[in-house]
Amino acid sequence: ASCTHRFDQDSLERYLGSRLPGFPRQPAGTLAVRQYSSGQSNPTFYLQKGGQAFVLRKKPHGPLLPRAHKVDREYRVQKALFSAGFPVPEPLLYCSDVSIIGTEFYVMQHVQGRIFRDISLPEVGPAERSALYLAMIETLALLHSFDLQSLGLQGYGRGPGYCKRQVSTWKKQYDAAAHTDIPAMNKLAEWLANNLPPDDSEESLIHGDFRIDNIIFHPTQARVLAVLDWELSTTGHPLADLAYTTQFYFWPASIKGLGQGSILETPSFEELVSTYCRCRRISTTLSNFNFFLALSYFKMAGIAQGVYARYLIGNASAENSHEFAKVVKPLAERGLELSKRSSFSSTQHSTSGELFHQSRKGQEILLKVKQFMKQHIYPAEKEIIKYYTECRNSEDRWKKPPLLERLKELAKAEGLWNLFLPDVSGLSQLDYAQIAEETGRCVFAPEVFNCHAPDTGNMEVLHMYGTEEQKKEWLEPLLEGKISSCFCMTEPDVASSDATNMQCTIEREGNSYVINGKKWWSSGAGNPNCKVAIVMGKTKNSSASRYKQHSMIIVPMDTPGLKLIRPLSVFGYMDEIHGGHFEIHFNDVRVPVSNIILGEGRGFEIAQGRLGPGRIHHCMRSLGAAEAALEILCQRAAQRQTFGKKLYQHEVVAHWIAECRLSIEQARLLTLQTARKIDMLGNRRARKEVAMTKVVVPRAVLKVIDCAVQVCGGAGVSQDFPLAFMFAYIRTLRLADGPDEVHLSTIARWELLDQSKKLTAKI
Ligand SMILES: Cc1cc2nc3c(=O)[nH]c(=O)nc-3n(C[C@H](O)[C@H](O)[C@H](O)COP(=O)(O)OP(=O)(O)OC[C@H]3O[C@@H](n4cnc5c(N)ncnc54)[C@H](O)[C@@H]3O)c2cc1C
Repeated sequence: ASCTHRFDQDSLERYLGSRLPGFPRQPAGTLAVRQYSSGQSNPTFYLQKGGQAFVLRKKPHGPLLPRAHKVDREYRVQKALFSAGFPVPEPLLYCSDVSIIGTEFYVMQHVQGRIFRDISLPEVGPAERSALYLAMIETLALLHSFDLQSLGLQGYGRGPGYCKRQVSTWKKQYDAAAHTDIPAMNKLAEWLANNLPPDDSEESLIHGDFRIDNIIFHPTQARVLAVLDWELSTTGHPLADLAYTTQFYFWPASIKGLGQGSILETPSFEELVSTYCRCRRISTTLSNFNFFLALSYFKMAGIAQGVYARYLIGNASAENSHEFAKVVKPLAERGLELSKRSSFSSTQHSTSGELFHQSRKGQEILLKVKQFMKQHIYPAEKEIIKYYTECRNSEDRWKKPPLLERLKELAKAEGLWNLFLPDVSGLSQLDYAQIAEETGRCVFAPEVFNCHAPDTGNMEVLHMYGTEEQKKEWLEPLLEGKISSCFCMTEPDVASSDATNMQCTIEREGNSYVINGKKWWSSGAGNPNCKVAIVMGKTKNSSASRYKQHSMIIVPMDTPGLKLIRPLSVFGYMDEIHGGHFEIHFNDVRVPVSNIILGEGRGFEIAQGRLGPGRIHHCMRSLGAAEAALEILCQRAAQRQTFGKKLYQHEVVAHWIAECRLSIEQARLLTLQTARKIDMLGNRRARKEVAMTKVVVPRAVLKVIDCAVQVCGGAGVSQDFPLAFMFAYIRTLRLADGPDEVHLSTIARWELLDQSKKLTAKI
């Protein structure tokens, strides 16, 4: 505790005892008072008595600048915001009687949680850092969404013209403190005065010092519990707050260390700004944002000059105040540079953004999906997994949990639906790749967005090759998520890697086709909502080539003769979440002729079309699983200790971590490259890349999961961690949609062809 702000504790204790409801009166003389050391200009104290904790904020002693240190304003604004449900500590009591502790003060609730002093949040990993920053920016957007009138804060600020006042106030303060001529500062002041935004009359409640270290986060979750330090709050242009909060992204490299940590990579500036805009429902093309950033830098330069001026007259509090003289010029120069930037739209440049540029729409949807995952999916994981565990031995085992249905409705309402189908979603494969990865982090998430296999593949088939009637009857309800479907190609009696082996027959009899045969591994068939199957079989036409003898046909699941025989387990898992994988027998199953897709003998043509993007959608999603596994690995390695060291401190474990990261990055680059090639050249011409991705990604992901299992020890293979199920599921991707060996043969064939083309070109 510092001595400068000592006050009469007994007097305070007596006062609180008589005025503050719930404040323990007895035993007298036991109030503990500690002053917070971090930088607020209004001294702040932690009060504790009888197991209860409060926070007191007061004016400093002595003569003060007019309009500064107005604790009554702080109390008023906190009161209004608290009543409106905004996260602030509840203000409990205001005291204007200076006889109690020498100045006015107020007391508020003490909020328990995390405060991060370093803006780069070195205590947490990149994913959590992103989540914390996004939570912060959502809170800022919420603040700016309030109507002053309904908060009861009319007249709280000084009316329209905020920007103009700011420029002149900071100019005056700077001029009063300037010790040397800095041309950039003068130019910046002039530019600001001449380029005031046309909407300077816009007024919201603004915080004035909105930074991550003025926020108390939930102890374990990325949730804002309270925004602190309302001393500089007023009414004004909301983008001033946003620019102030995000200015560190542009911080000049030469002056790191003066209160600003390292510049963040995650989340990006664009991500923060577009989240803010989305929450406030304003355009992401922020006109005049250059003005607000330039103003922020002008203000920072002015503050630095002020600190230096106080140092010169021997009145500075910080030890490093003499260094502030050096930063004024670079800050002003950066402000001037920013003033000249024409646009600050929230176009994202992710790490791979230079190579693989997502469309604006793709970025917006990715961001919305990320938010949705954070807000709805992750919190539901426990309940949904519990449902499947508990239903395992009951009749309900194949039913979907009600919570999942609710999540689907929510996602649909937010427009996060059918994102896989470019003609419906307007997204490219490259856009979708990053979205699918995000959803792949949780095993049931793809279904919530109606983006799960095998329905996606079946919807693609019906969309591309179905007749109008077929689309109306089956595609529409699938797109609406009202029904689901399965795909029946693989057969128990033949090696199905070679689809020409397929024996199931589809024979024409008058106006019907009659289907006879056995299928297995029909994923999703257990779901009671699975109403239709797309079946591949042989239509009699022995004269045609091997690739023209098979057809695909639509079979409603309730057609007589279609029988679900048994579910097949995957490493012992019945995979209820994906509707199981069934053996199905077809005995004289009769459907109308109109159920054939595209025509007799065209099954292989459809299969090719079906599995272009479909194959790599699995890969995209499994990259999300790899990220989730690596996260688990790192957390565990940092928690547990053997032979005197944390697990990650054993070099072998550290190397595994590095190898996992390498695998993920390499696999992702290939996936994005393939997605881009499909976008640019179509499925057929991207066949080699699709095959390469299909081989590389599951291998890479399995390697990551295997490392994670190893680092988690016994827990890694148990039901306490998702790793065992993840491993089982991803392992099947080396078989499903064709085993690795078949894809490797395809790659080799194309490679030889490409090489021979090169050779011919040389000759
Ligand atoms: C979880 C899961 C879900 C599935 N979902 C579906 C579904 O919804 N619908 C559906 O129809 N099918 C589905 N399948 C089936 C899957 O597509 C087949 O298992 C796959 O095509 C391989 O066929 P097969 O099992 O008959 O193996 P086989 O054809 O008997 O092949 C066995 C092995 O032989 C080797 N081999 C094969 N060809 C070659 C070659 N050219 N060169 C060298 N080696 C070779 C490979 O090592 C291969 O793994 C699913 C499978 C699993 C495991």
